[in-house]
Amino acid sequence: MSAIVAVRYLLTSGGFAFWTAKRHPGLYANRRQIAREIGWSLASALIYGLPAGIVAWGWRQHGWTRIYTDPHAYPLWWLPASILLYLLAHDAWFYWTHRAMHEPRLFSRIHAVHHASRPPTAWAAMSFHWSEALTGAIVIPALVFLIPIHVAALGIVLAIMTLMGVTNHMGWELFPRALVHGRAGEWLITATHHQRHHRDYRCNYGLYFRLWDRLCGTDKGLGGF
Ligand SMILES: [Zn+2]
Ligand SMILES: [Zn+2]
Repeated sequence: MSAIVAVRYLLTSGGFAFWTAKRHPGLYANRRQIAREIGWSLASALIYGLPAGIVAWGWRQHGWTRIYTDPHAYPLWWLPASILLYLLAHDAWFYWTHRAMHEPRLFSRIHAVHHASRPPTAWAAMSFHWSEALTGAIVIPALVFLIPIHVAALGIVLAIMTLMGVTNHMGWELFPRALVHGRAGEWLITATHHQRHHRDYRCNYGLYFRLWDRLCGTDKGLGGF
């Protein structure tokens, strides 16, 4: 499973880095930073793969977890509802653990690895200290024991997680201006929002939604490129 996570990372980040080189040539000039981002990300892939591998094995072999394969096992509205619930739960976990990581001692020991990317590139998607990777690695494997989800819906959650992890660090905005600066952008997090976290540090902690940042007064608005 770690190998799958590593290949998924290399393909997605590599694909978006290639796209960036075409669209914004010269944006990723710091090769030493990119080498460091890839190193930490591959170490994180190893950590992400462990709980995911154990849970996938338990699901196949022993029927652990609440992952189901018959789409009619629950009402059809549950398919989108479960996706949203997983994203909201992951977002809440990320917000509070991320905010804790900005406490000075945890920051210098752990989270500084992620912020060493100034500004981050598409390769920084999983550039975390191994102990921070561990806090991220357990979220989805824990949720599948708590909240029923169809296997395809889980695939969509993982795809969104991968896509947003990469694009939020890409150094330019992929999504249309109308979305980012419109009504949806008031609640959704894209690169323009997360870039500001990398610039100003103690604000914009969220992952997918601006909900917790808004509730807790840590949303400082969108950054700019
Ligand atoms: Zn980041
Ligand atoms: Zn941070």
